[in-house]
Amino acid sequence: MKTNAKGEGVQRVAVFGATGSIGKSTLDLIALHPDRFRAEILTAHRQVDRMFRDCERFRPSCVVMTDPEAAQALRDRLSESPVGSGVTVIDGPAGLVEAAVSPEIDMIVAGIVGAAGLPSVLAAAQSGKRILLANKEALVMAGALMVSAATSAGSVVLPVDSEHNAIFQCLGEQYRCFSTPPGVRRLLLTASGGPFRAWDKERMFSATVGQAIAHPNWSMGRKISVDSATMMNKGLELIEAHWLFGLSESDIDIVVHPQSIVHSMVEFQDGSTLAQLGSPDMRTPIACAMSWPQRIHAPVKALDWTGHQRLDFEPPDPVRFPSLTLARESLRAGGANSAVLNAANEIAVQAFLDEQIRFGEIFGIVESTLSAMAPQAGRLPESVDALLAVDQEARAIASAHVAEMRR
Ligand code: NAD
Ligand code: MG
Repeated sequence: MKTNAKGEGVQRVAVFGATGSIGKSTLDLIALHPDRFRAEILTAHRQVDRMFRDCERFRPSCVVMTDPEAAQALRDRLSESPVGSGVTVIDGPAGLVEAAVSPEIDMIVAGIVGAAGLPSVLAAAQSGKRILLANKEALVMAGALMVSAATSAGSVVLPVDSEHNAIFQCLGEQYRCFSTPPGVRRLLLTASGGPFRAWDKERMFSATVGQAIAHPNWSMGRKISVDSATMMNKGLELIEAHWLFGLSESDIDIVVHPQSIVHSMVEFQDGSTLAQLGSPDMRTPIACAMSWPQRIHAPVKALDWTGHQRLDFEPPDPVRFPSLTLARESLRAGGANSAVLNAANEIAVQAFLDEQIRFGEIFGIVESTLSAMAPQAGRLPESVDALLAVDQEARAIASAHVAEMRR
C-alpha cells in the first residue's frame, strides 16, 4: 500500500461501473480525498467519452471496457493523449473478474447494474477483497454462494445501498455482515414509494418511461429508477437484507416514508429502535463504506431542523405494488427462485425502457416467469455456472412473455 504525506495508507480503489450513478459519486469522493484514496482501476460497459475524461482526471493504471469495440475506441483515444501509455485497457467480461482479484487494489466498489455484476463480485469475495456493495442483484441472485465465499475467504462486505448502509450503521462498529446481529427483533426498510406512490392502478398501468424514471427524491440509473417505481427495488432490497444481516424474511418489514430522510431502522428486543437519517444523497453511504470504521467529509447537504420538517410513515400497498409479495415469496421458496425473479425483472424492465411493453405489464412477466420456472428453481445451484444457466433460462422465458405481449 502506498502512503500519503502523513504516512497513512492510500487505499487503491477499483470502481466497477465507474460511468454510472454510483461510480460517479464514488469518483467525486476520491477526487475530494486524494490523500486517502486512489482510483486504480475503472470499469464501464461502453461509455468511451466519459471513460476517456475519467482517465485524464484520475490516471488509473487499468481500465476494463466490457464492450470490445468501446475498448478499442478508448485505446485509440488514449494513444493520442499524454495519459495514454500509463493506462492498460482490457476488454470483455472476463476482464472484470481479472480486475476484481487484482493484487493492485485494496477495495472494490461494486457499482455495475444487474446480473452483469455478479461474476466480478463473487470473484472479489472468493479472493478476500473488501467489497463496497451497491450491486444488490449479486446478492439477490447468489446470496448463499456470496455468503459462503466471503466468509471462507475473509472478505469484508460493506453495504452501500442506502437502506442497508443505514442498518449497518445502526448495528455498531463491532458488527460484520453475514452474521446475525444479537438482540435484534426486526429490521425496518424504508421505501420512498417511488413516483407512483399516490397513483391509482389504472393510471400506473400506462405510465410512460419519463414518468417512471422521474424519482421524487433520488437521482439514479434508469434500471433502479424503474425498480423504485414498481417497488421491485424494495423487494430486491428485502432479499439483500436477508443475506447481509442473516435474518429471516418475516423479521424484515417495509415501511413507506415519502421524504427519504430516515434511510432504515433496526428494532431491538428491548423495544429500542435506532435509525440513520440524512439527505438522500448516495455520497453519504459511499463515504461511510469507503472510510469505515472512520468518517470522512462528503459534500452532502445537512438536514435542516429549523423548518417544518415532516417525517411520514405508512404501510406499502401490496395490491398496487405486487413486487413486494413476489420478492417475499421467492425468498420463502428458496433455491434459485430469487435469481429467477431478478432475471425476469431485468428483462421486463428493459422491455419497458425500450417501450415494448407497458409499465403495468412488468409485474405479470415476473410472476409468470416465476411460475414457469418453479419446478427447476426449487433446488439451490451449487456453482455459479449452474446458477447462470437458471438465469439464462428465466431470461428466455421472460423474453418469450414480452414477445407475446407485443403481439
Ligand atoms: P447506472 O446505470 O447509472 O450505471 C451502471 C454502470 O454499470 C455503468 O458504469 C455501466 O457502464 C455499467 N454496466 C452496465 N451494463 C454493464 C455490463 N453488461 N457489463 C459491465 N458493466 C455494465 O446504474 P446505478 O444507478 O449506478 O446502479 C448501479 C448498481 O447500484 C445497481 O445494482 C443499483 O441497484 C445499485 N444502487 C444504485 C443506487 C443509486 O443511487 N444509483 C442506490 C443504491 C443501489
Ligand atoms: Mg436502496
